[in-house]
Amino acid sequence: MSDVLKLKYKPLIGQTIPDLESFAESQGEKPFRGRQLFDWIYRQQVDDVSAMTDLSKPFREKLANVPIHPLKMITEDVSVSKQTQKILFELLDGNLLESVLMKEGNRITICLSTQVGCAVDCDFCATAKMGFIKNLTTGEIVDQFLQLQKMSEQKITNVVFMGMGEPFLNYKNSIAAADLLHHSKGINMAAWRITISTAGVVPKIRQFSEEQQPYKLAVSLNGTTQNQRLKTMPITETHSFSNLIKASKDYAYNSRNRITFEYVLMDGINDQPKDAEQLIQLLGSIECKLNMIPYNEIGDVYRRPSDEKIEAFMKSLKRAPFPVTVRWSKGTDIDAGCGQLVTSST
Ligand code: SAH
Repeated sequence: MSDVLKLKYKPLIGQTIPDLESFAESQGEKPFRGRQLFDWIYRQQVDDVSAMTDLSKPFREKLANVPIHPLKMITEDVSVSKQTQKILFELLDGNLLESVLMKEGNRITICLSTQVGCAVDCDFCATAKMGFIKNLTTGEIVDQFLQLQKMSEQKITNVVFMGMGEPFLNYKNSIAAADLLHHSKGINMAAWRITISTAGVVPKIRQFSEEQQPYKLAVSLNGTTQNQRLKTMPITETHSFSNLIKASKDYAYNSRNRITFEYVLMDGINDQPKDAEQLIQLLGSIECKLNMIPYNEIGDVYRRPSDEKIEAFMKSLKRAPFPVTVRWSKGTDIDAGCGQLVTSST
């Protein structure tokens, strides 16, 4: 039997106010004790029960047997620049996941995982090589934030769901985690500081749009035609390129937020002048931003284009009616760049 099944109680991190109210009641306490717990865990970010001084001593004694964290920090790698840290966590069932913390002046961005492994199978991504292992619980997603915040000297300003996994194939828990990050009585992070990225699960883009989720949406486009995208992203077979563009367009039309398209630039694959041309055609009428990610090599067949080629591609996009930025992945020396996250279970 796994440790997780042996646990009598669910870890407190990941629970909502109603969950914690019921938990308090199940322990013979008044529901407001649950709200106090919510405040300690998420707003004050205290994980030592003995410090939760407004709870009664008998309740604190009971809480001593209740796990708080669903994750255990195992190791931390720091990039040469000291600007990027990659953290390895162990789940209660022994699986492993990685998260990344990036500093850029006053901006501290963390990159959270939503699954162990991934089922989407993008040909250029290291996480895909693990296959799909499991969906993370809400608590396992939020605990990455809480533990990274504890180790960071500065306040985390931005959260991106761009670590291991496909958030839209773990939709419920990913949204519940974003809701906990955003909750005004808890962590209270502004919705526009939270970005959820998808490889293109079209029905979930539609759901996200219909539910008017306040979080920002990023779509990993990575190609400019059905056939070209299909070569590196097999998900294009199920959710066609044209449906992806259509759903993104509809989202952008219905949402207050600009949509971000990510585009991993791979040498000889999608970095030709006609691709730049096509991007302008495709995205020109969408309220969007295009984020180019020069490919991070993971020891497979794909290569990062030369700096000259990247520059030329950017130049061809100069006349695009939308902003175009380049994201030079941080921490590639510690394999913490986009698409480089991978773990193997102990
Ligand atoms: N599954 C989601 C969330 C992961 S985000 C998604 O695909 O959007 C990870 C981002 O890194 C995606 O935009 C992906 O296209 C990109 N990526 C994957 N492998 C990469 C690599 N080797 N180099 C650079 N970017 C990569």
